[in-house]
Amino acid sequence: MRIARFTAGEEPGFGVIESSGSQQIIAEIVGDPLYQGVEFTGQRFELDAVRLLAPVIPRSKVVCVGRNYVDHAAELGNDVPDEPLLFLKPNTSVIGPGDPIVYPRQSSDVHYEGELAVVIGRICRDVPVDRTADVIYGYTVGNDVTARDLQKQDVQFTRAKGFDTFCPLGPWIETDLDVSDLAITTDLGDQERQSARTSQMIFDVPTIIAYVTSVMTLLPGDVVLTGTPAGVGPMQPGDEVAVTIEGIGTLDNKVVSRD
Ligand code: MG
Repeated sequence: MRIARFTAGEEPGFGVIESSGSQQIIAEIVGDPLYQGVEFTGQRFELDAVRLLAPVIPRSKVVCVGRNYVDHAAELGNDVPDEPLLFLKPNTSVIGPGDPIVYPRQSSDVHYEGELAVVIGRICRDVPVDRTADVIYGYTVGNDVTARDLQKQDVQFTRAKGFDTFCPLGPWIETDLDVSDLAITTDLGDQERQSARTSQMIFDVPTIIAYVTSVMTLLPGDVVLTGTPAGVGPMQPGDEVAVTIEGIGTLDNKVVSRD
């Protein structure tokens, strides 16, 4: 099932994406499916006629894994970590598909990082590796936008990863998907810049969720970004960046200057 958050001009709501012939339809549901399950209102919209929003607003945090693909660790001159390397992005950095990534004044080297995003469905801690499927609601596409110059300057990642608009998520949550070996690509304009498979992750999704929950409680709606493959690089105002994951879809955003 594909769950989207959208607006048809009024209050944002949630819906299920359905196909009707060649047309895609969004069937509105009551409330937030993370808390209320899926109950249809009976309202249906053409997908083209609504604006999609970030499919989830993380309840408390976005937990990220750094250096989780060998080739990406190498391209930035880093060793592969022995354990997942964790950092946080604030939930205020989240934007939706089509929303602008705002280039901050403080940086002159803002990079895209296409990533598989895990959406948590239940409050959980100390989840064993073989039970992590029980706490995962679904998957979406993420872009861990990073001010690379500030990341190097600060050592700590908070500023470099935490600007408003630095966490695009979408276009929707896919709830039924085996994510162990999916193609992931990032295009900048018409140029493909990242191309890998999720099977190349050093730490797979169950290992990551078990590790994160051994450190901190995750809440429904929290998001875990699983790391980016090789090919990261700079974006400029005016650029369009598109991250695509097989079985989920494409997350498109445009970079705009601050002023
Ligand atoms: Mg990243």
